[in-house]
Amino acid sequence: MEITTKVREFAQSVRTPFVLMDLDTVERNYKKLKSSIPGVRIFYAVKANSHLRVLKKLHELGSSFDVASRTEIEKLLSMGVPASNLSFGNTIKREEDIKFAKSVGVDLFAADAEMELEKIARNAPNAKVYLRIGMGGTDSDWPLSKKFGTNIDHVKDLVVYAKRLDLNPVGVSFHVGSQCYDKYSWKEALMKVADIFWFARLQGIRMNIINLGGGMPIKYVRDIPTVEEIGEVINESIEEFFNFMDRPVLFIEPGRSMVGDAGVLVSRVILRSTKDMKDWVYLDAGVFHGLMETIEDLRYELVVDGKENVVCKSFTLAGPTCDSVDVIYDEVDLPENITLGDIIYFLNAGAYTVDYNTKFNGIEGPYMCFIDEIDLREDVKITEMIGS
Ligand SMILES: *Cc1c(COP(=O)(O)O)cnc(C)c1O
Repeated sequence: MEITTKVREFAQSVRTPFVLMDLDTVERNYKKLKSSIPGVRIFYAVKANSHLRVLKKLHELGSSFDVASRTEIEKLLSMGVPASNLSFGNTIKREEDIKFAKSVGVDLFAADAEMELEKIARNAPNAKVYLRIGMGGTDSDWPLSKKFGTNIDHVKDLVVYAKRLDLNPVGVSFHVGSQCYDKYSWKEALMKVADIFWFARLQGIRMNIINLGGGMPIKYVRDIPTVEEIGEVINESIEEFFNFMDRPVLFIEPGRSMVGDAGVLVSRVILRSTKDMKDWVYLDAGVFHGLMETIEDLRYELVVDGKENVVCKSFTLAGPTCDSVDVIYDEVDLPENITLGDIIYFLNAGAYTVDYNTKFNGIEGPYMCFIDEIDLREDVKITEMIGS
């Protein structure tokens, strides 16, 4: 999203921090993904940004949704999303949530362990399940390796076990790691899926759903493969590895790539100091207030309002809480004259920011705001700015 004069004026006049979103960008992202992979069905990963307006927009566009909890399911149902458009993709579900999901008509569940299949079989008999392969998460900023998914042989065992439990094993899922820079990760995963589908066939089990997961990157500071390029690798791999069967049904679960570049996080400098020869800048947002992903050193592009052409020097950038973990970057280049009251923009911060917000220390995190409503947001206007 562009930092226009209108955005700058708004940022100066309202309470910070906040995340400003542009739903037109979400729409463009949705359409681009849809056209890059023929026939793909999109399940937006709700956790990336669960604001009602974002979900409504995606519902209007025809999106389905990947959910992780009863609360997310209830929110979507109350918006009029049919249960058949929901996939319960969390591999670590509460038993009562499975029961609830089944009772409202959700029929698609993920698993990567025997015990999870048993929980599903008990509470959602005969449900459709897909099994999750583990991926290394190589060359991704937020690898999901180890915690999720399992090795191919184990997945094969799970397919057979699911059948024995009278579940309906319909497919395989994976997640290459969030913010993945290597388009060939999808190829590597699809090769494994083909191996499992072939094995299942030999057992008389016909699986045909491939859930391509999330992981598609957005532009922060490093160059990225485009959605079109990743789509090409996916399409070619499908042609190459699945010629022993009819074309599989493709699901995809984008989070970051749907909403990331549709938002900007806006924060203010509330303190600058020099200690032990190091210069510190403290903001009103930090690790506990929207910038959680920086703890794995995810690098946002930063813009300090009105100081774009000022010479930069290295600072430590930290958040406002009384916790030493609340350091955004140990070293980052900022304008040398940055000071109290300056507005700082974290570009492409529409994903995994507002939803990671805590009220730690009683400090309010970023609120959400939309570009088409900024003229109306009297509720967030600052009437007096102290000290500046
Ligand atoms: C978080 C998540 C996603 C979205 O991942 P992105 O990297 O943000 O695209 C997709 N699927 C599952 C199961 C997830 O947990």
